[in-house]
Amino acid sequence: MTNDLIPNLTAFDGDSLDKAFADLDKQAREAAVKIDGPDAIEVFRLEWLGRKQGKLTLVSDQWLKAAPAEAKKAVGQRFKALKELVEKLLEDASGAGPSDAALKAEAVDITLPGSRRLMGAEHPITRTLNEIVSVFASLGYSVGVGPEVETDFYNFESMNFPPGHPARDTQDTLVVANQERRPLRDRLLLRTHTSPVQMRTMELQPPPVRIVIPGKVHRNDAADATHSPIFHQVEGLCVDTSITFSDLKGTLDHAMKALFGSSVKTRFFPSFFPFTEPSADVQISCIFCGGKGCRKCKHSGWIELLGCGMVDPAVFSFAAEKQPDYDPKRISGFAFGMGVERIAMMKYGISEIGQFYAGDMRFLGQFA
Ligand SMILES: [Zn+2]
Repeated sequence: MTNDLIPNLTAFDGDSLDKAFADLDKQAREAAVKIDGPDAIEVFRLEWLGRKQGKLTLVSDQWLKAAPAEAKKAVGQRFKALKELVEKLLEDASGAGPSDAALKAEAVDITLPGSRRLMGAEHPITRTLNEIVSVFASLGYSVGVGPEVETDFYNFESMNFPPGHPARDTQDTLVVANQERRPLRDRLLLRTHTSPVQMRTMELQPPPVRIVIPGKVHRNDAADATHSPIFHQVEGLCVDTSITFSDLKGTLDHAMKALFGSSVKTRFFPSFFPFTEPSADVQISCIFCGGKGCRKCKHSGWIELLGCGMVDPAVFSFAAEKQPDYDPKRISGFAFGMGVERIAMMKYGISEIGQFYAGDMRFLGQFA
């Protein structure tokens, strides 16, 4: 196909190409000099860059396509240089900026009312969790994380719940199906507490250790006003030489005062957890009545809030399989764990745990 806007090209050697492109180069420069206003700019643009009949389109369609394979590169390079020249000429002719018409088309009506964006805010669970973590961070604790799908070994066995231990039944566990052919310790389950991260951390890092472990845990509990099959815990672990129960009491007393106010008192009661010995439940003086007795504290003046204890030597023995420095004869430590939902419910006076997960903006908006 030929077109009288550009000559037909028959020879593709370097000299012929140079001459053909030089002619177009000259035409473009001469045309550009004659531009004398916005209309002429548009005429020039159409003549050279028009999508169907522009000379550059024709060069591409006719010369480039007709070129034999070995000449394609030479034609392409010259075509590119020509295109750059035309664009430059057009830019120079157009002066400083876009045309008035282009500006008008892009104009924004600043008198229209704006669209208001809702401010995001931390979810009350996230906020409480971060508050707890920051209390311990200021004591020098770092944050440990681990998987939510855990093996039986990390969730139970290494935490001193041996197979068949009755304490396993108290945590109705959600297990992954079709695992019967695996050895018990390798079977997968949804972690019932954040404690497995204690073991994972100790296996990776020799003592001393000071970590808090915030995270989601799962139990096969029916949902009611205060229970949910998914909830959040913050677990803590401190291991070093000569850590005593006094350190545990002092740390948790400070943490409760930091979370609930300096007038809060704590007291410790003997309890049982497989992974600590001795173990204790911690109560704080009722934050609603100041300890005088009210409906919230069942008129006792105290509210039970978390569990804790000195790390059981059996747990250290499991850690020592990979890190021999966890020798229960040379080191000691304490651990504690608390439910984030429970603390958030107390802090914000929430009576239904389900409110946290319902995604109701009327509820969540109060925390923005
Ligand atoms: Zn009370």
